[in-house]
Amino acid sequence: MIADHRGIGMTSQRTRDRLIMRLQEQGIKNSHVLAVMRELPRHLFVDEALASRAYEDTALPIGHSQTISQPYIVARMTELLLEGTPKTKVLEVGTGSGYQTAVLSRLVERVFSVERIAPLQNQARERFYQMKLNNIRLKHSDGSWGWPENAPYDAIIVTCAPEQVPEELLRQLAPGGRLVIPVGSSASQSLRVIDRNGNKFEQTELDPVSFVPLLSGQI
Ligand code: SAH
Repeated sequence: MIADHRGIGMTSQRTRDRLIMRLQEQGIKNSHVLAVMRELPRHLFVDEALASRAYEDTALPIGHSQTISQPYIVARMTELLLEGTPKTKVLEVGTGSGYQTAVLSRLVERVFSVERIAPLQNQARERFYQMKLNNIRLKHSDGSWGWPENAPYDAIIVTCAPEQVPEELLRQLAPGGRLVIPVGSSASQSLRVIDRNGNKFEQTELDPVSFVPLLSGQI
């Protein structure tokens, strides 16, 4: 079935516009990020039963004990990722619902995304197909190892939290590239930005965040 992208009631454009206003009030400035999020139907990335809550600024369950990230966090991480030099090729670890992937796909040339839970990946793939987002490549694997075949990446975004930054992801960053990643235990995580200059890595610690953990292996 072709889903209705305009939506009605709680999934309408007006509801989405209100979310964008809230994101701006919270300090999101990148007009490209805001424009993409204003357009993109987040309600099609959650179960129908939750569609009416899709434009609240909150994380929502997507099954398999995982969540679709809060819109503010998606906007903030995307904004950080795009800062500075232009980004063409981006790697995402943790496809989940595919919402963050879809946002990126409208802002950069090519998106590679890795997910360890096959049913989530398959649902996301179907959504990209329906929405004709055809610059996204998906891989079913443990993203701690990145996706070496397509490296290096201009930017890497991780949407689940490891206790430490996986070395392999640093290796797959292009010179001048940027990694945006939540790091820490479930009790205490912070968002980090790591910039690669030659073989030096410069790390900045930002906001406290709360992500599902990065887990090893694939299912
Ligand atoms: N960006 C997604 C976030 C989903 S939650 C969204 O907004 O929908 C984080 C996702 O990371 C989950 O789907 C989880 O299965 C996945 N994940 C956790 N550890 C992983 C790993 N080692 N490799 C790849 N994906 C992983």
